[in-house]
Amino acid sequence: MSRAHVSFSDLRTATYCPRKCYYQRTSDDADREPPPQVESIRALATRYEELLEAPAGALESEPIAIAPVQYRDRLGTTRERLADANQWSRLCEPSDQDVYASGRDCHGVVHKVLEDPLEPVLVSAGEPPDQGIWEPQSVHAVAAAKALAWEHQQRVDRVWLEYPAYGVIRTVDLTTRRKARYRRALRTVRDLDGPPARTNNRSKCDACEFATQCGVRTRTLRSLLGF
Ligand code: SF4
Repeated sequence: MSRAHVSFSDLRTATYCPRKCYYQRTSDDADREPPPQVESIRALATRYEELLEAPAGALESEPIAIAPVQYRDRLGTTRERLADANQWSRLCEPSDQDVYASGRDCHGVVHKVLEDPLEPVLVSAGEPPDQGIWEPQSVHAVAAAKALAWEHQQRVDRVWLEYPAYGVIRTVDLTTRRKARYRRALRTVRDLDGPPARTNNRSKCDACEFATQCGVRTRTLRSLLGF
């Protein structure tokens, strides 16, 4: 296995599907910058107080994914819960933002950095699962914690995951299972020297931009073909 320095994004993609990661790394024209919509959703994570004060009508024009009244309620509940735990102001006023962190094995951008204790925050533009966080985000969370810990030469025990379009904020403990999954993803990326097997979970393929190249039948294609 090589000791290549791996990006957070490759770790995330390899956890989703190693083959997709292979295509992404070998594709000349893969646009690896997040689309502007993602940036505007992430920006919500720096405007919570303003969003909580805004009238429902004003929230209509924000890139939120649920109805304005429901959004304000949910974000209000999140604020209450985290204020009780003395965490809300840390998240609203992080020590640093969009920091490039480079650890021993991996590197990438950490969206917010909290101090005392040192904790990274990842801001997702997507929808949270019913409970916990998605598996690729779990691997990303461990990677961000390791990179930050390496740079600061400090221990990191917890990561935050924000889903600002949904008003949801969750914590991630760095369990043994999560760390093992991270190490597996790191090995997968470092060992990629040809297209690996397709994922068994074909529902993932429906949203994959490499479906044609990969040769799988996506749901859209299946319905077009009448299957
Ligand atoms: S189409 Fe499916 S199997 Fe192929 S790369 Fe994408 S997610 Fe992986």
